Amino acid sequence: MVHLDSYYFNKKRVLVRVDFNVPLKEENGKFIITDDTRLKAALPTLKKILKDGGRIILMSHLGRPKNEGEYEEEGKGENKFSLKHIVEYLKEHLNTEVEFVENITSEATFEKVKKLKRGEVILLENVRFYKAETKIDNENHTEFAKKLARYGYVYVNDAFGTAHRKHASTATVAEFFDKKNRVCGYIMHNELENAKKVLEKPERPFVAIMGGAKISDKIMIIEKLLDKVDSLIIGGGMAYTFFKAQGGKIGSSLVEEDKLELANELLRKAEEKEVKIYLPKDSLAADKFDNNATKKPVNNTEIPDGFMGLDIGKEAQKEFAKVLKDAKTILWNGPMGVFEMSNFAEGTKQVGEAVIEATKNGAYSLIGGGDSAAAINQMEAGDKVSYISTGGGALLEYLEGKELPGVTALEG
Ligand code: AMP
Repeated sequence: MVHLDSYYFNKKRVLVRVDFNVPLKEENGKFIITDDTRLKAALPTLKKILKDGGRIILMSHLGRPKNEGEYEEEGKGENKFSLKHIVEYLKEHLNTEVEFVENITSEATFEKVKKLKRGEVILLENVRFYKAETKIDNENHTEFAKKLARYGYVYVNDAFGTAHRKHASTATVAEFFDKKNRVCGYIMHNELENAKKVLEKPERPFVAIMGGAKISDKIMIIEKLLDKVDSLIIGGGMAYTFFKAQGGKIGSSLVEEDKLELANELLRKAEEKEVKIYLPKDSLAADKFDNNATKKPVNNTEIPDGFMGLDIGKEAQKEFAKVLKDAKTILWNGPMGVFEMSNFAEGTKQVGEAVIEATKNGAYSLIGGGDSAAAINQMEAGDKVSYISTGGGALLEYLEGKELPGVTALEG
């Protein structure tokens, strides 16, 4: 795979797939970017290409347009998913001309691309406004990818967040470029390198923390991690399925009835592989799913009827912190409770503090995207952990050992 730094982009037309899937908010008829993390992250790759004297043709998706592209007229989507809302941001941060192009496939667009000057940028409309982008069995899929491909002499993929999708702009398009002209962007490279740090020869003890709502989403990764980690901390809503599976009383806490047997199976496998599993001994329970609910500290095997565990309790916080204190490698994915509600955010915060402390003492800590990244950012501690993945689902699939089509396509 060609690294961005080993490529000189001078005069070249560079087709770049980025992840500009940012949250937007409508205010007085205008759409405002509410979190620019993904845009900011993409700037170094784009600046390097412009500095070399390259011409950039940018493509990205934004949100999940209606059934992923089921529009009456191809290429016309809802305003709230249009990439035109980020043109001003790009102009300001790249300090150059950025022309927005609505119709991705027209000849007029190709003419514009041909006239693009060195150091300038064309931003194509949301690729998911076209059915052929996401549906590989669509009759126009390859044709669509080919049309995108003719815009560039070289293809750069820096959208790690969608690398687990085999779409036209993330994978199929690469087939139309020589291997030497398929380049891996900085984000993509960093994400892969950091994931490798926990997958290949992690320093021990290696502790993984899994949280969030459901085990069904995380079964594969938990199974995979049992072959890698020394200890596995399980918190969040998914912990109650384990307690119920072992005959505990969990009140009205979140449970996946059809995953009880699987929960026991995972515990059995962990024992077999000599992985120590830490489940939270206690919870902060509530009489309803509400920040202002009546709260009650409870033991996790005896949660009274009418109460649900919404955060890990004090004992669990202490025990998890103790385990993390000695860790040399940490992977964290998923919150310990309903951290969006301030009264149930403490468990997640304390685990975050323990990860930060361990990092200060020399541990390598990878925060696995999504809600755990949001929790660390809420604590303004982004620089106090080793790496925060921007890749959510893509990172999880990579850690599960699955092939990422976006990465394979670059390798050729
Ligand atoms: P996930 O996307 O699977 O990582 O789940 C994240 C979501 O899990 C967050 O929105 C949390 O509010 C939710 N969550 C965490 N703990 C609990 C819990 N004890 N009960 C219900 N939801 C929870």
